Amino acid sequence: LSALGKVERMRTILAGLAAMFVALIFIAGPSLAGPKLDAGQRLDVEQAVRQSIEAMAAEAVHSQSRFRKQAEFMQRKSKAVNPIDVIQTEIAFDADEAAGTIDTEITIVVKATEDGVDSVELSVMKMDTFSIEDDIGTSLTFDYNDYYRIATVALPATLDKNQTQELVFKNSGDPGCDPDDFFGMQFCQVSSEIVFFAGMDWVPAKAAYTYEDVYGQGTVNMDITTPPDYVAATTSDLDSVDDLGTELVHHFVGHFNDTHGGMAYAKFDTFTTDTPGGKPVTAYIHEGTTDYGDLWSAVGADIVDYFSTIYTDYIYNKQDMIQAVEELGGGVGPQSATFYYASAFNTDPQAWSSESIFSHEIGHAWWGNMIRMGDSHSPWINEGFAEYSARRYGYQIWDSYMQDYLYEIYFRVFTQFVDPSDDVPITSSGILSADSMTYQAITYWKGSAILRMLEWVLGDGDFLKGMSAYAEKYRSDHSDDLTTPVRFQDTMEAETGADLDTFFDNWVYAAGYPVYEWAAQFDEQDDGSWTVRVKAEQVQDSEVVYEIPLEVSIWVGDEEDPRSYRLEFEGTTADATWEFDAEPRGTQVDRASWIWGEKFALLLGDVDGSNDVDGFDLIYAAWCQGGRSFDNDHYNYMPEADFDHDGEINKSDLNLLYANFGRKGTIDE
Ligand SMILES: [Zn+2]
Repeated sequence: LSALGKVERMRTILAGLAAMFVALIFIAGPSLAGPKLDAGQRLDVEQAVRQSIEAMAAEAVHSQSRFRKQAEFMQRKSKAVNPIDVIQTEIAFDADEAAGTIDTEITIVVKATEDGVDSVELSVMKMDTFSIEDDIGTSLTFDYNDYYRIATVALPATLDKNQTQELVFKNSGDPGCDPDDFFGMQFCQVSSEIVFFAGMDWVPAKAAYTYEDVYGQGTVNMDITTPPDYVAATTSDLDSVDDLGTELVHHFVGHFNDTHGGMAYAKFDTFTTDTPGGKPVTAYIHEGTTDYGDLWSAVGADIVDYFSTIYTDYIYNKQDMIQAVEELGGGVGPQSATFYYASAFNTDPQAWSSESIFSHEIGHAWWGNMIRMGDSHSPWINEGFAEYSARRYGYQIWDSYMQDYLYEIYFRVFTQFVDPSDDVPITSSGILSADSMTYQAITYWKGSAILRMLEWVLGDGDFLKGMSAYAEKYRSDHSDDLTTPVRFQDTMEAETGADLDTFFDNWVYAAGYPVYEWAAQFDEQDDGSWTVRVKAEQVQDSEVVYEIPLEVSIWVGDEEDPRSYRLEFEGTTADATWEFDAEPRGTQVDRASWIWGEKFALLLGDVDGSNDVDGFDLIYAAWCQGGRSFDNDHYNYMPEADFDHDGEINKSDLNLLYANFGRKGTIDE
């Protein structure tokens, strides 16, 4: 069987088993059963998460190398002052699709920001034929640094403050789209199937020695010449198309300060859905693979609308979702045009992995593009925010139970695949030198978990109030201010009145995570009422004491949904008792997986959270025998039945269950 075939068969088996569990629980009556565990549904989530982890790995590698380069750049020794702004860029682009080469002529306007400027430094990838001229066609001399890809250009005349100079770059040849050696990923391609650049390194930009400089590139206008029948898209807006018979010239006009441009043309079919705010969202999909085009553009429009509603207005005129090539491996999120691996558009929108990558990349329109970051040691301030936004959008369209479980899987993958000695604070220089798995797990998953923990600590209303204030305040059309974790914390505190020092110390400036051990005790009182006492201890090795409360869910009587409480810590201990007039039938700690940490129940053997070890637990534990964490050949793994936490469910777990069989949960003093 293929891997997918196996997954299909497992799902069938699991669905049957899950139905059997439900039937058993129904026959037994709700008062005997703890919370329902749906193993089949959870396996679906696990598979989907693993697919999306793979698709996101490409972006994570790209992201980390960009931040590394930026950090290296800014630490560059004897860096020159570069007192200019690039205020306008005009690009003429043509390609020889068969030869895989491009031909560009790019005019930029630089403006001096102080008196006496006689040279400028521009970051540009130099191709085979490269020259720089002034506005009247005189060749200019320049030095080129191959390592940093910097052209230092002698200006034809010294500029005083606010004076401008036009520079014309002719840059042609092979743009270097070969896949990288290690991952085989490709961020551009020039062929008759498609010409695309998810980043345009051949366009000269101000050499950035600070984050302010990264974000100061002016507007970009672009003319793209294509063969007939090709459809083109760029981060700028399409203004008109000239049909010259043998070729088309597409004119694009920019309206915003460009930071991360992209372009593509191919024989695309296009599918457009307007957001309620009137912004067109267009899916560009290769002819012949367009079954889901309308649906995906509708999903894209829904995503843009959702983020506009909860954060701040979308300042771009449109959003283009572009089908690139399979070798892209994942997604890339320039400002108003996003690029994806080909099959992301060929899957049914009911399949979760594509939707989650679309919402992540479109999320970058806010995090990293509109809201600009200023700290290369905190890539989470755009990646974690984009990932949180994608997950949050997931809650709008999927069962919250599945999204909650997804956060648990993120944490489990982290603990399984990141060695504890590799763990680094999410804001630290170590995050740039971490291996790519560690980078992805911490920057993307822990980053999204940190925002979700803030949501839990502040409550969703205050949390969103803070997030939208932060987004508004730093939106690029309001101010050129950059963001950092400090500015984020300050804004959240100012908006909500909360003191978040300990939260940021625990989660942002320290590595590690809490390890909780918890127990519950149900007692019937003389008057027939009941109490539930829950006690949790933090037992992590580190000195860090976590202030964040734990959610406790208690199932009472025949109520279908649990009641939810907050268990507050004093130091490393939390201990609380709640009263009920009906018999409690189960409890769980951190059921929604709010907390980036381990939560171990002390009553070994209680798989279903009923606070006793009974026949239901035996059924679950027996079914899980042989299950191994993240192992497709041993898929019947449930963390609740892995009592010794060794990643596999075997005889020793069963023995732990037998040893406690018939016992009820108690709190030992
Ligand atoms: Zn990203």
